[in-house]
Amino acid sequence: MFDAAIVGGGPAAMSAALNLKIRNKDFIILAGTDKVTGLSKAPNIENYLGINNISGQELISIYEKHLEEMGIEKKNEMAYNILNMGDYFTINAGNNFYDAKTIIIATGKARNKLLDGEEQYLGRGVGYCATCDGPLYRNKTVAIVSENEEGEEEARFLSEICSKVYYLPLYKTSFTTNGNISLLKGKPISVIGNENKVTSLSTSEEKIDIDAVFFIRNVLPVNQLLDGLELEDGSIKVDRSMATNIPGVFACGDCAGKPFQIAKAVGEGNVAALSSVKYLDKNMEV
Ligand SMILES: Cc1cc2nc3c(=O)[nH]c(=O)nc-3n(C[C@H](O)[C@H](O)[C@H](O)COP(=O)(O)OP(=O)(O)OC[C@H]3O[C@@H](n4cnc5c(N)ncnc54)[C@H](O)[C@@H]3O)c2cc1C
Repeated sequence: MFDAAIVGGGPAAMSAALNLKIRNKDFIILAGTDKVTGLSKAPNIENYLGINNISGQELISIYEKHLEEMGIEKKNEMAYNILNMGDYFTINAGNNFYDAKTIIIATGKARNKLLDGEEQYLGRGVGYCATCDGPLYRNKTVAIVSENEEGEEEARFLSEICSKVYYLPLYKTSFTTNGNISLLKGKPISVIGNENKVTSLSTSEEKIDIDAVFFIRNVLPVNQLLDGLELEDGSIKVDRSMATNIPGVFACGDCAGKPFQIAKAVGEGNVAALSSVKYLDKNMEV
């Protein structure tokens, strides 16, 4: 059981990790599988105190070097779901499960706009982790809509157990299909179903009949990550200690709202870590 689990891999998460390390806490960072964070896209940063005219990618390298010097290792795993077990939390990261006493969410700018039908059929044919839920669709027809290359591995896995796999990449790829995998073109429009389950996926090009669809996203909708998490204006609602409405759960950085800036993310990561330490001291230690 970890003292804390940090979900995210950007400046907010790295700052939280640094402060947990300094406070001697036992923690894990699930940094996701996407190497392109919001920060890595920043061409030239001028508003970060002490470092002028630096690219996002260069700043990430400086952060990572700092973590490495402190002996902190990030795990390139995506957290798909966090279960509130009462006095601790269990994180489902695909093939792995991790238990932690506190959670720090630092997943970047919250994405709440879902496809038509996506929320309605969640758990009834819509999923976010093919490795976790794929076996439910053995010998069936499934689709994967993916924002990154992780989806290709999921497609290969599903092709071994499903009768047909449609793959719709939302990024540039040279993925070559084989056997029962077919590539789709266009953009996803909606998930369609009957009163019980998903029946088809509509794209800008066509409508295909399926039994399930998996969305592999760089950022999951935050309210899908942890049930009962209160949102405000589409971001996770926090107080000044970065506490959410769920005791033991803290949020920091872009996922906790505007302004979307590195200095704020780093500062909030610091506060979230110290608040989680305070929470542990108060609630967990004998
Ligand atoms: C083009 C561009 C230019 C910018 N320029 C500036 C600038 O000049 N100055 C400035 O201050 N700010 C700038 N920003 C904003 C800045 O990059 C963000 O405010 C900052 O990166 C937020 O940090 P974060 O840690 O909250 O989120 P992010 O940097 O977005 O990191 C979140 C990370 O969490 C990971 N993640 C998400 N969900 C999960 C999950 N379920 N499990 C595991 N990992 C997950 C993501 O893959 C990502 O790596 C810019 C942003 C962009 C896009």
